[in-house]
Amino acid sequence: MSATAVSDVRIPHFIGGEWVNSKSTEWQDLVNPATHAALGKVPLADVAEVNAAIEAAAAAFPEWRRTPPEDRIQPLFKLKMLLEEHLDELGRLITIENGKTLSEAKAELRRAIENVEVACGIPMMMQGYNLEDVARGIDETMIRQPMGVVAAITAFNFPAMIPFWFLPYAIATGNTFVLKPSERVPLTMKRTFELLQQIGLPKGVVNLVNGGKTAVDTILDHPKVRAVSFVGSTPVAKYIYARAAASGKRAQCQGGAKNPVIVLPDADMTMATNIISDSAFGCAGQRCLAVSVAVAIGDAQKTFRDAIAESAAKLRVGYGLDEGVQMGPVITPQSKSRIETLIGEGEKSGAKVLVDGRNASVSNYESGNFVKPTILDAVPTDSELAHTEIFGPVLSLVHAEDLDEAMAFLQKNPFGNQASLFTSNGSAARRFRYEAPAGNIGINIGVAAPMAYFPFSGWKDSFFGDMHGQGRDAIEFYTDKKVVVERWAKEHSRKF
Ligand code: NAD
Repeated sequence: MSATAVSDVRIPHFIGGEWVNSKSTEWQDLVNPATHAALGKVPLADVAEVNAAIEAAAAAFPEWRRTPPEDRIQPLFKLKMLLEEHLDELGRLITIENGKTLSEAKAELRRAIENVEVACGIPMMMQGYNLEDVARGIDETMIRQPMGVVAAITAFNFPAMIPFWFLPYAIATGNTFVLKPSERVPLTMKRTFELLQQIGLPKGVVNLVNGGKTAVDTILDHPKVRAVSFVGSTPVAKYIYARAAASGKRAQCQGGAKNPVIVLPDADMTMATNIISDSAFGCAGQRCLAVSVAVAIGDAQKTFRDAIAESAAKLRVGYGLDEGVQMGPVITPQSKSRIETLIGEGEKSGAKVLVDGRNASVSNYESGNFVKPTILDAVPTDSELAHTEIFGPVLSLVHAEDLDEAMAFLQKNPFGNQASLFTSNGSAARRFRYEAPAGNIGINIGVAAPMAYFPFSGWKDSFFGDMHGQGRDAIEFYTDKKVVVERWAKEHSRKF
């Protein structure tokens, strides 16, 4: 394929139930990360456009909150069916704009749909609680009410799933919603909002603005936005958490990660290798739950190292729509170059490049952003790379003598998104579950992604906030609690 071409397809916003062409003066070119074919242009919304989306959501709120929960979930049942019907089409779109393989894209859509299914339980999940006779003749009730306009700002690596950690719960609980997806992958949500148009939601209940920092800052400062959900890198997560709080908003901000896995010598090495290889290199390592540093203990240092190196070297890298491809490109040429620079820094800090995926060339896709699976062996535990998020298909191997030493290494990790252990020893597993400083724990699991009815529970620099995405936390996040204490004088009832 030749160098990047330019396309004139312009991505619109979806505001107040209408597709709106952006008047922004700033546009970014979109390209397929594998083929570098031009995909269109995305606007970086200006303040007026974002304000219009927020005002549309605010105008829709009073009627939407009065709509009974049972009626609010009916469009979500339709949405589930439409997403199922369009799974293949949406999957292809994800591969085209994000680069992951078609099977990874469809797996992501499954998780998106799962969140729609869970949100259909809102009439049960949103219930409050009550107690009669908190004092003689006085009753007390806790009611959950929707907050108003809520917004989500999302990352590039799961163009469908991440917005769906928020959208179904936000609207099922009676809020109105503004989404600002990653400007690097706007096509999946554009198509999804075309489907959202078909499910009978009143105008303004869901809105889509494409943009970058200006759009985000406008959301963060707008007095009518009550809550903000964010998924992206840690520096931006911290910034958004602080700025949202400064204007009195509720915020949940999911940040970056450096997920460790410990491999004990008693682990089933074939299973561990297959699962860890998929975790480290699946989605080209661009998963916030990707395992990126493996701590092998005792004999596992050799057995695991040899097995994972063989597995990594065998993976078929290419365009995710081509048959048999197991790993796609990374998102941009800048990502590729950042990842390759970090591999070089690892080497300088004393690590040995066991499998080198730099300067990858994939036939027919020479201009694609490919980095092949890479393994760095004996990464010094005190080197910067041991704790830096690479967000690419790079697995660092760290050696430890025993579980104590491995756990001490985990404690130093500034992130806490996920930690995994491979073992056949229940006692080691229990200790790990008990002590590992991360919110999502895998025991013989490589990607410990919580199902939609559990919270996505990152810790430390992987999460800023109190209530997480998904599950019961989503209901807490999207509702205000109101407590009513009630007394009625007996004389009044005697009148009737
Ligand atoms: P990013 O932080 O660059 O962008 C995320 C969003 O923030 C985008 O919508 C972008 O437009 C916006 N943004 C970027 N810079 C901004 C700024 N200076 N001010 C205001 N808004 C800004 O992240 P990304 O590259 O899209 O995604 C990759 C990162 O996301 C990785 O660090 C990964 O670990 C993390 N991630 C975390 C989770 C999780 O659940 N913890 C899930 C997925 C991805």
